[in-house]
Amino acid sequence: AIAVKNLVKQFGETTVLHGIDLDIPQGKVSCLIGPSGSGKSTLLRCMAFLEEATRGTITIDGEVLGFSESAQGVRERLPAATNRAIRSRIGMVFQQFNLWPHMTALGNVSEALKTVHKMSRKDAEDLAMAQLVKVGLESRAGHYPAQLSGGQQQRVAIARALALKPKIMLFDEPTSSLDPELTGEVLNVMRDLAAEGMTMVVVSHEIGFAATVGQQISFLDQGKLLFTGAPSDVFRKPRNPRLEQFLDTYL
Ligand code: ATP
Ligand code: MG
Repeated sequence: AIAVKNLVKQFGETTVLHGIDLDIPQGKVSCLIGPSGSGKSTLLRCMAFLEEATRGTITIDGEVLGFSESAQGVRERLPAATNRAIRSRIGMVFQQFNLWPHMTALGNVSEALKTVHKMSRKDAEDLAMAQLVKVGLESRAGHYPAQLSGGQQQRVAIARALALKPKIMLFDEPTSSLDPELTGEVLNVMRDLAAEGMTMVVVSHEIGFAATVGQQISFLDQGKLLFTGAPSDVFRKPRNPRLEQFLDTYL
């Protein structure tokens, strides 16, 4: 589970997140929706500690990430080793797959297992292969990214994140750079993962996915969280005018 408390993020003079409070429940799929530029990616990147929050705290499975903050607002950076350990519980998948072009699918999934986790080549490749099987790509293990479709590349990226055994998976618009006919295969992999009880945070414009797989929906607008609730509350009777306007453009 993730607890975000009073999260403020500034880039220079610009405040991008204005004091976000959000609880991501264990074993559920939380979806984050909102217009372009509302701060969805920034919020996700803060949760993955790819960005440092300016104020506020993020707690992952009860442990504070990055900085602790006293009631008086005094911030203290936590030791790098502590942050690395907490950070390693999070897997992230991006809109751009970011695969290494000179490595096969198997190479992409096994690389960090060998270099970061110091696994033997055999163990790393066995584990990588198991993850490729899971995303339905066992027959593509020896293919290079250029020989794979966008949907297959994104599934390799998901397998790569899963191989590191994260407790929580963050997805930032994982299907946005895919042709519509390839979106389904990626969403299906995510649906399977959700059914296994993986804790997931998904930023997506796939309202259908959010409505059917999401168990909690949060609406971010101009750096503020305007709504968090069950899908039924969002899609059947949106009461917030900004949310209603947003849904009108996507439904
Ligand atoms: P989209 O739906 O287009 O992906 P988003 O909701 O993910 O949008 P963010 O990418 O989080 O929005 O951006 C929120 C705001 O923060 C934008 O105004 C953006 O220009 C700004 N921003 C993001 N990253 C940086 C940065 N590194 N430096 C300065 N400003 C940034
Ligand atoms: Mg974004």
